[in-house]
Amino acid sequence: MTDGGLTGDPVSVCRSCGAGLPEPFLNLGRTPVANRLLRSADEQAPCYPLMVAFCDTCALVQLAWALPAEAIFDADYPYFSSFSDALVAHAHAHVDFLLDERRLSAGSFVVEVASNDGYLLDRVVQKGVRALGVEPTDGPAAAARERGVPTRQAFFGRDLAAELAHKHGRADVVVANNVMAHVPGLNDFVAGLATLVAPDGVITVENPSVVELVEHREFDTVYHEHYCYFSCTSVQVLMRRHGLTLFRVEEFADLHGGTLRWWMAPTANSPAIEQSVRDQLERERSLGVDRPDYYASFGADVAGVQNRLRSLLASLKAQGRSVAAYGAAAKGATLLNSTGIDSSTLDFVVDRNTAKQGRWIPGACLPILPVEALLERRPDDVLLLAWNFATEIVRQQDAYRSAGGRFVVPVPEPRVLS
Ligand code: ZN
Repeated sequence: MTDGGLTGDPVSVCRSCGAGLPEPFLNLGRTPVANRLLRSADEQAPCYPLMVAFCDTCALVQLAWALPAEAIFDADYPYFSSFSDALVAHAHAHVDFLLDERRLSAGSFVVEVASNDGYLLDRVVQKGVRALGVEPTDGPAAAARERGVPTRQAFFGRDLAAELAHKHGRADVVVANNVMAHVPGLNDFVAGLATLVAPDGVITVENPSVVELVEHREFDTVYHEHYCYFSCTSVQVLMRRHGLTLFRVEEFADLHGGTLRWWMAPTANSPAIEQSVRDQLERERSLGVDRPDYYASFGADVAGVQNRLRSLLASLKAQGRSVAAYGAAAKGATLLNSTGIDSSTLDFVVDRNTAKQGRWIPGACLPILPVEALLERRPDDVLLLAWNFATEIVRQQDAYRSAGGRFVVPVPEPRVLS
């Protein structure tokens, strides 16, 4: 299928194990590419099927219809990590732990895949440890170099990993945060991690957990940029295929709606498997994460949340209240476009990211303004599209709330924050 220069296809085999995929358990209709912000209200955004399936062979949850990466992560890709204080603090704490536990020194080498604007590696550089970022997009790669983080602009995979290992030596630590879900060539990507890491090195991978997606009805974290939705169960199978042992799992309940950090090492030299791995796998088994019926009722749950959110916003409008939204991230576009909430309900969206301001949310066709617009225009209510940063945002917007403004949270259950 071709549309506006982008191509996409239904997915019939599992991206991890290659088994045939059953019918999707979640269908969010046709939506635009969520991160592809528009330059004007008149620009057309092509829409593509957005649906998710479960592989009952390796337990990987994945998109059942997919666009190629080049169609998504183009030069215009607007995400800059450093715009979230919480994310930067989380990354720096991870670096400090690694420096200590792995005894990293000037002779060590740390690589981050999808290093964005250098938000994590700048901490490594500051500590005098050799670092290299790998980042495919122009803006963030340039920003990283400007702050002194050596950055190779490329998509990561087995071939690039072999080249980097040859040129720079193997890495004591390879970090890959919020990227593994974004790669269409999943096995090539993990083979790259295995190729680049030193025999006695470690790999850490972070991603939102599919358990949180289902348990907290975070259906808006589904978008075309996210090919896969991982559990410990599916990650363990995937890593083992590439000679890597999952030996530790950390859980961050407040990050991106529930993030897991998986620690892997080459199997021959892996530390002993820790209790955290056994605990997470047991929790997933008891929930049924490895079985199709766990996902079967999720689609119906999502439809209920969508209906109640539309009703809540309609009742606010019926009271004569004005409503805006906070957070022009991809999840916001999925939430708006899969529920049909658009400019007839919302007046505008605000976002701290200056690269997004002046653009428009695709599909829903909402202008993106600076956060100061909340105090200047005083909408009565603000739909919190970036609910994963709710605590941070609500704290920052104390002046807006003191002036009578309210926030509406969409998931797991739509409600007005008291
Ligand atoms: Zn599979």
